[in-house]
Amino acid sequence: MKVQCILCDRPSELEDDSTLAKKLRNRPIHTYLCQSCYDRIKVKTEARLASGSFQLFSYNTQDDDF
Ligand SMILES: [Zn+2]
Repeated sequence: MKVQCILCDRPSELEDDSTLAKKLRNRPIHTYLCQSCYDRIKVKTEARLASGSFQLFSYNTQDDDF
């Protein structure tokens, strides 16, 4: 089964019997993430959770000071 990563457009081939291929068959193909993008998002998400959402808030309000 051919799939394409939604972030980097890298095509890859999945084993038809793999769990991921079975999952993707029931969903649109663009839900696939390659391993490197998946890891990158996972790291980003974990970093954001660790720093908390308050930092994002102060980033947004910084523009108002100028
Ligand atoms: Zn990718």
